[in-house]
Amino acid sequence: MVMDFTVSQLQRLKELGVDGCYDRFDSAEDRNTSFEEMVRQAARTHRKSLRDRCRQGQRHSVKDAEIKMVDNLVHHGFVECLTPIIIKKEGVYRMGITEEHPLWKQIFWLNANECLRPMLAPNLYCIMRYLEKQIATPIRLFEVGPCFRKESQGCMHLEEFTMINAVEIDPGCDRQERISELVRLMMEPFDVEYSLTTESSDVYGETIDVLVNGTEVASASYGPHKLDRDNGVVMPWTGVGMGLERLVQQINGESNIKRVGRSLVYLDGVRLDI
Ligand code: ATP
Ligand code: MG
Repeated sequence: MVMDFTVSQLQRLKELGVDGCYDRFDSAEDRNTSFEEMVRQAARTHRKSLRDRCRQGQRHSVKDAEIKMVDNLVHHGFVECLTPIIIKKEGVYRMGITEEHPLWKQIFWLNANECLRPMLAPNLYCIMRYLEKQIATPIRLFEVGPCFRKESQGCMHLEEFTMINAVEIDPGCDRQERISELVRLMMEPFDVEYSLTTESSDVYGETIDVLVNGTEVASASYGPHKLDRDNGVVMPWTGVGMGLERLVQQINGESNIKRVGRSLVYLDGVRLDI
């Protein structure tokens, strides 16, 4: 009888990053011996990688991507904002996300009136509203920080992830062109190909998505937009929201985003419980 690895063996091999086509075996003994050897080899590789990192010192890939992208945006005149992670229900409502909306069920509520932000847009709208009253255009701003969404398990989604959202108010510009330029600025530090495609969004109606290896890493949108009035923003804008773990997952060729997300069992893609 031909035998495959057991479900728990496959799970362990996956955790250790040993993906791909596996051999089949004539007996349970052969299979278990082969499994143990594969685990030993993977553990050796992980341990070496951990040792090298600990000796040399190294930034986490997600933080590294953040720093590179932030530096490029600042270099091109974007101002960084830091806004609260805990936001009010009104901010969620002003994004058109009410009880019937698909995103509503994904929100982590702390109490009847406050939640962990599922996106940066409500706070950035607020900052834009102040800035557009006080200074001349162009106005360029961004924020990077944690966002939270309840997600059913999957290899592309985390419940806490890092979003970077860059926005520009420049009424004189062709906004589609500016979206391409904004995306270019965000992607410039990385040696990776990407493409733009138009998608429909539950929040923004239509978005222009940025794809790397066919996977969405960012969604862009532009005003005037139906949400602008509720958020007190008058001037047209362009904005791009990018998930940094999603981007790094694609750049590093990781099969599961959890390997590069906030974790107690992975250190920047390397399994710790080996
Ligand atoms: P998806 O369709 O992949 O669930 P989305 O369109 O709902 O994503 P957006 O609201 O457009 O996500 O958020 C902008 C970016 O933030 C996404 O392109 C993605 O890179 C990232 N992102 C969104 N949700 C998650 C998540 N749960 N985990 C990791 N990254 C996420
Ligand atoms: Mg999207």
